[in-house]
Amino acid sequence: MEYAALVDVYERLEATDSTLAKRDVLGEAFADADDEHLPLVVVLCQGHLFAAWQRKELGVSSSLTARAITKATGVSEDGIERRWEETGDLGDAAAWATENEAQRTLFSTDLTVQAVVETLRELPTYEGEGSEQRRVDAIAGLLSDATPREARYVTRTALGHLRIGIGEGLVRDAIALAFLNGIDDAGTVGDSGETTDGEATDDKTTEGEATNGKATDGEGADSEAIEAVERAFQVTNDYPLVAHTAREEGLSGLAELGIELFRPARVMLAEKAAGLDAGIGSVAENPADVLLEFKYDGARVQVHKQGEEVRVFTRRLEDVTDAFPDVVRAVRADVSATDCVLDGEVVGYDRETGDPIAFQQFSQRIKRKYDVEELIEEIPATLHCFDALSIDGESLLDASLDRRLDALGNVLDPEPGAVERATSQRVADSDAPVDFYDWALLAGHEGVMVKNLDAPYRPGRRVGYMMKAKPTMETLDLVVTRAQYSEGRRSDFLGRLFLACVDDTDRADDSDTNEADEAAGTTDDGRFREVGRLATGYTDEELRELTDRLEGLLTERSGRVFDVRPEVVLEIEYEEIQSSTKYDSGYALRFPRFLGVREDLSPADADTLSTVERLYDEQ
Ligand code: AMP
Repeated sequence: MEYAALVDVYERLEATDSTLAKRDVLGEAFADADDEHLPLVVVLCQGHLFAAWQRKELGVSSSLTARAITKATGVSEDGIERRWEETGDLGDAAAWATENEAQRTLFSTDLTVQAVVETLRELPTYEGEGSEQRRVDAIAGLLSDATPREARYVTRTALGHLRIGIGEGLVRDAIALAFLNGIDDAGTVGDSGETTDGEATDDKTTEGEATNGKATDGEGADSEAIEAVERAFQVTNDYPLVAHTAREEGLSGLAELGIELFRPARVMLAEKAAGLDAGIGSVAENPADVLLEFKYDGARVQVHKQGEEVRVFTRRLEDVTDAFPDVVRAVRADVSATDCVLDGEVVGYDRETGDPIAFQQFSQRIKRKYDVEELIEEIPATLHCFDALSIDGESLLDASLDRRLDALGNVLDPEPGAVERATSQRVADSDAPVDFYDWALLAGHEGVMVKNLDAPYRPGRRVGYMMKAKPTMETLDLVVTRAQYSEGRRSDFLGRLFLACVDDTDRADDSDTNEADEAAGTTDDGRFREVGRLATGYTDEELRELTDRLEGLLTERSGRVFDVRPEVVLEIEYEEIQSSTKYDSGYALRFPRFLGVREDLSPADADTLSTVERLYDEQ
């Protein structure tokens, strides 16, 4: 397939702000793609080259891309910098440079979709000396074959920022529309006529929906189709597979997509309870169906085991097996199932006191790539298992929690300090649930989880089957959307960071809010609303690490402020939330302070605007 045909689709997507129109364009592109190209089109329209759990860094920064543009076109890096500064988009600068190229490539061939995907997918394999130059050469190779409009999107894809406003919710709706409802020859929406509303897919929001779930709320794909695609995606995290299955096997095929070993599913999420009693009251009708469990402050992990092979994934779906050889050993030794998928929290403990350590201290364990065994000596960890998603080939997603816990008990032989069951108590067996709550806090944990024993497991969902009750003043997990270099002693560091929450309100659907969205650093993955600017709380070391990380994510720039690809989530404490016209959330944090990076959270997991509003009201 010619890359130019995909560029037509990109341009049509970019030309409209209407979510419905975008969905229709995308649906049509999916329907038009043949079997061989469908997975590539699905992947490229999302701007990701790898599935989330296989995601590898392409290692492409803005400056490396600028070098590649120079190499391909002969236009000086200064000229490209200037153009980038003027338009704020390196993709535009690449198109312009290709248009005005100082050198002609003698043998250029038409760019194909395969060539773009294959070349970019190879970049992470370049390692060691000379790898940077090889990346420059590879991108330059694509650009020399590109027309100006192709150069724009090759550049943006390499940088991981397509700027066409396609999030997970839209891809879901487009798949439903293309393969489950049909698109007629004119490329318009099929005739189902039922309303499509992200909310209609469930009574509560899902993870995807937190950022862009209510992608389409007009006529077209029906909610049964959308629900089926959504479920299949939350279980597989693989839209190419979901699209293929929807096309070949329809609704029944999607329903059969299940948990598979070494392909992580989204984890079920908790809602916040206003207190222990409120949590018990709302999680289930009958208190006899309620289980209380310690709420551990560690890293959520999904552990996959098949024979001796064990892999550990975070709730961001990242494979962190190499950081947790201790967990791998414990699961091999203490879990008797031949194969299984378990859900739990890994918690770090202080070697001297035996107390749990704060997540921020423990998070070094997640990031660590070298001397891992030494760090294990320093910060030992325990896996506290609290759920089982499948055991010995049987999916347990639709089984009740009660049954899942029974199944877990049958295969887990707890080894104190290595792998344990989460400490729990049934409300039915408890004289005073508050005693359990106090016990959890005295033992140094965050609070308790309140769970419905009768409920199934819903990947990726915040469906109210489990709630969290904790006493501490809430911190906020916020996404960095823009950054500025500090002044004075720290002028080499990106120390002024704009922070945003996820817009889960109706405003997220309003396609007329684009100017505000631009200011807030809206991305292809959803809409973020800024709530303040952070300037304090970090040590020099923390700031250096953060700067290194953010410099690789800078996209556009206006004046001294850079837009940042929204990938980094920070935990922030603050004095107060004020209402404000300065930020597009309508709120501003007073005295925000950096507590740490939430390595375990993806942008979609960040706190929502509704939470900020609630905390504001509760002050
Ligand atoms: P929060 O991170 O505050 O939104 O709380 C939800 C998180 O608590 C989950 O994603 C888990 O990582 C964590 N957690 C700790 N203990 C438990 C437990 N017993 N059951 C479920 N989740 C738990």
